[in-house]
Amino acid sequence: MAADRIPRLLDAAVTAINENAKHLTELDQAIGDGDHGINMKRGFDAIAASRGEVVPLAPPQALQKMGMTLVMKVGGASGPLYGSFLMAMGKALRENPNATDLATALAAGTAAVKQRGRSDVGAKTLLEVLVPVTDALRQAADEAAPVETILQRLVDAAEAGLESTRPMRATKGRASYLGERSVGHLDPGAASSCLLVKTLCQQWGTDS
Ligand code: ADP
Ligand code: MG
Repeated sequence: MAADRIPRLLDAAVTAINENAKHLTELDQAIGDGDHGINMKRGFDAIAASRGEVVPLAPPQALQKMGMTLVMKVGGASGPLYGSFLMAMGKALRENPNATDLATALAAGTAAVKQRGRSDVGAKTLLEVLVPVTDALRQAADEAAPVETILQRLVDAAEAGLESTRPMRATKGRASYLGERSVGHLDPGAASSCLLVKTLCQQWGTDS
C-alpha cells in the first residue's frame, strides 16, 4: 500500500461526510432523531483534527487510532459502531495488505459491528451495506479480479445494499421504535456507509 494512500483516503472521507452531513441528517429525521449527519461530521472532523498523528502511522495503527477517535468523540450509536469497525479492521490488517488481506480485515470490522450492535443483516442498519461489500471484496479477491473491477463491484454492492434498506422494517436502533413506519425510508447508517464506500473506492481508483 502506497505511503500516501491513507492520508488521501482520509481527506476524501472527511470531505464527503462534510458535504453530505445535511443529507444524512435528513434521512435520520425521517426514521430516527435527526442527528446522524451531525454525529458523522463530529467524528470525521475529530479524525481530521488528528490527521498529523494519524498520517505517519502504518495502516493498521492508523485505522485503530481513527476508530478510537470515533468511539470517544461521537455520542450516537454510529460512533461506537464505526469506531469498533475501524479498530477491528486495523487490528486484523497486515502490513502491505493485498486484496485478500483487505477482505479479511473488512470481515473483522463487519463482525465487530455485528457484535457491538447485537445485530446482523435484515435489521435495516449499516450492516446492509457492510456485509455485501465485504462479500464482494472477498469474492473479487478470490477471483484475482483487476483493481477497477474490484472497485466497481464494491460500489455496486454498496448501492444495492443501501437500496435494500428502503422496504425493510427496522428491528435495531432508534428506527426500530417506529416499527412499520420505518418501512419506505433509507437507513441513515447504510447511507453513510454507502457514501464512504463510494468515496473511498473513487479515491483508490484515482490513486491506482
Ligand atoms: P443514534 O441512533 O444514536 O441517533 P446515529 O443517528 O448517528 O445514532 O446512527 C443511526 C444509525 O446507526 C442507524 O441508521 C443504523 O444504521 C445504525 N445502528 C443503530 N443501531 C444499530 C445496531 N444495534 N446495530 C447496527 N447498526 C445500528
Ligand atoms: Mg440518530
